[in-house]
Amino acid sequence: MGGPNRIARELEAREIPCFHEEKLARYTTIRIGGPAELLVRPRTVEELSAVLDLARAEDVPVRVLGAGSNVLVSDAGVRGIVLHTRALDEIRFEEGGLVQAGAGVHFPTLVRKATAKGLRGLEAGVGIPGSLGGVLTMNAGAYQFSIGPLVHEVVAVSLSRGPLTLAGDAIDFRYRASSFGRDLIVAHVRLVLAEDEPRAVRADMDKHMRFRKETQPVGVKSSGCIFKNPEGASAGKLLDELGLKGFRLGEARISEVHANFIVHDGAARASEILDLIDIVRTRVRKELSVELETEIMTWN
Ligand SMILES: Cc1cc2nc3c(=O)[nH]c(=O)nc-3n(C[C@H](O)[C@H](O)[C@H](O)COP(=O)(O)OP(=O)(O)OC[C@H]3O[C@@H](n4cnc5c(N)ncnc54)[C@H](O)[C@@H]3O)c2cc1C
Repeated sequence: MGGPNRIARELEAREIPCFHEEKLARYTTIRIGGPAELLVRPRTVEELSAVLDLARAEDVPVRVLGAGSNVLVSDAGVRGIVLHTRALDEIRFEEGGLVQAGAGVHFPTLVRKATAKGLRGLEAGVGIPGSLGGVLTMNAGAYQFSIGPLVHEVVAVSLSRGPLTLAGDAIDFRYRASSFGRDLIVAHVRLVLAEDEPRAVRADMDKHMRFRKETQPVGVKSSGCIFKNPEGASAGKLLDELGLKGFRLGEARISEVHANFIVHDGAARASEILDLIDIVRTRVRKELSVELETEIMTWN
């Protein structure tokens, strides 16, 4: 395909960072994934828009990668452009509990910085290892925490319409889904948080982190929860009922700590993870008559 090469030449001329055949395993928390044909790392909304204009002109597919904590990239990798948001990393605290942050900001870092300033609202999400853009797009949540009600406005770039600003209440946040995605890329977010005593917010944040460490695998390679919770049930509990904790396929296995996590020690391939997902889903369908939907995104 000439498109990605032409785009790369143009990006290099404009000094926008881009990398050919970059292995995505090092950009995902599960440490799995083949190369991206062209990985691009814009630093500003203008650079992000420029990349999207070129992709549209050349008809090259674009995917967005935040912290890679909810994607499983195939062993063969992906063609086209992977837009990596990491360099959109500015955080600015404003008056009245407002915080403006780039899509690439590591969410736990944002939570800790807000907490240190006595800003309340994000503390239950401290253990979500995504980027802010990924947290918005996936409408990630934990315990009572959900990002939607805290969003004041979002600067996004549409593949078809260019940059636009959306008011928080105009955004559709659903269970582990939102209006953002392939056509609408989050660039900056303005959140509104409540002002409180730093020590009180810190105590709550620490409590949530302790609880997570007791109930989820930590320090292992995973993409978090594999399946969404079906209506009125917990996917992890269903898998646990079937005795699936510790069940393995090749190098991939169901975590012994939390049955909705697939983990590995570093040698699993994406194909093994996908096969294991298939086996588990089929057993739940046959034995419990429940259809599980994956929460993780698969790229191939
Ligand atoms: C150990 C562990 C614990 C976890 N705990 C939780 C939890 O408690 N609750 C929870 O909800 N999730 C949890 N997750 C899942 C994951 O962290 C969240 O879904 C997170 O929001 C993903 O953010 P990310 O930046 O890593 O997104 P990525 O994995 O990089 O991408 C996920 C999706 O979002 C899209 N995307 C990313 N950034 C943007 C952007 N700027 N604009 C448009 N689209 C974008 C991608 O294209 C992709 O479709 C956990 C994961 C792990 C590994």
